[in-house]
Amino acid sequence: MTKLSIVVPCYNEQEAIPLFYPAVEKVVKKMPVEVEYWFVNDGSADQTLDELRKLHDQDPEHVHYVSFSRNFGKEAGLYAGLKAATGDYVVVMDVDLQDPPEYLPEMYHEVSTGEYDCVGMRRTDRKGEAKFKSFLSDQFYNVINKISDTKIVSGARDYRMMTRQMVNAVLSLTEYNRFSKGIFNWVGFKTKYLPYKNVERVAGTTDWSTWKLFKYAIDGITDFSEAPLAIATWTGGISAFIAVIGIIFIVIRHFVVPNSSAFGWASMVCIMLFIGGVQLFCLGIVGRYIGRIYMQTKHRPIYIIKEKK
Ligand code: UDP
Ligand code: MG
Repeated sequence: MTKLSIVVPCYNEQEAIPLFYPAVEKVVKKMPVEVEYWFVNDGSADQTLDELRKLHDQDPEHVHYVSFSRNFGKEAGLYAGLKAATGDYVVVMDVDLQDPPEYLPEMYHEVSTGEYDCVGMRRTDRKGEAKFKSFLSDQFYNVINKISDTKIVSGARDYRMMTRQMVNAVLSLTEYNRFSKGIFNWVGFKTKYLPYKNVERVAGTTDWSTWKLFKYAIDGITDFSEAPLAIATWTGGISAFIAVIGIIFIVIRHFVVPNSSAFGWASMVCIMLFIGGVQLFCLGIVGRYIGRIYMQTKHRPIYIIKEKK
């Protein structure tokens, strides 16, 4: 029988887990597959691990979990779950039921016919989300799709079902800084996106503040594009060009207008501060990339497991 692995990263989700499991069971019971769960406890501070142990004791054959030694982030959780999964097809889901299990049969239908290697879910609205947050998200997709060769579909969630072949491809990318939204697209394969209306989480609160999302977006851009590095070259070129024009202007003025004096020091200070600022900004961008190279060359593991069942 075909095996479907369900990978679920969990961080402080003690309320959501007891709701998630029966909701998914109800749907997968009717599907022609054998199901295997891989919950990842991402160093939760609440009773998440106890909830997972309870589920495992209920059905030790099908429900498994990996528990980290601390919080390593959702990306690390996804990687650990995908690595542990043994199914012919693997689906990644959030535990808060924002990824509605009702779509599993449709997703399975699309991948099992062999026409698609991956089926992802794409939100068509952002109901219940702060306006500013939605605005920033839209801008992020605009920017990254302009400057990166890896196209990222706006509104696409991490909720996706993949074939074994694609999972192996995702696992072959062992980079330390993992930006899954980019990785899933980078590996290629044929992906179909099913649209659906946004659902709010059943219990608990989101761990993603606007600031955290902003930092995540910057990570995504530095992981999948070298365009920011070109900023230094461009601003350097443009300011050198302006400087040449300025020099020509001053020399001509010296001969044409007698006794012409230099500009005041205020404008001088502004120009110096501006150029100094641009230089530090560019240095900061280069620094970000160097920081990433530094982390990668340490070859640290992406996560550390404390308990696995
Ligand atoms: N999550 C995780 N580690 C973290 C943060 C979140 O494993 O450090 C999990 C969380 O338990 C949930 C999923 O990632 O299953 C998505 O998180 P959340 O619902 O907070 O994000 P949102 O749906 O608001 O994007
Ligand atoms: Mg959520």
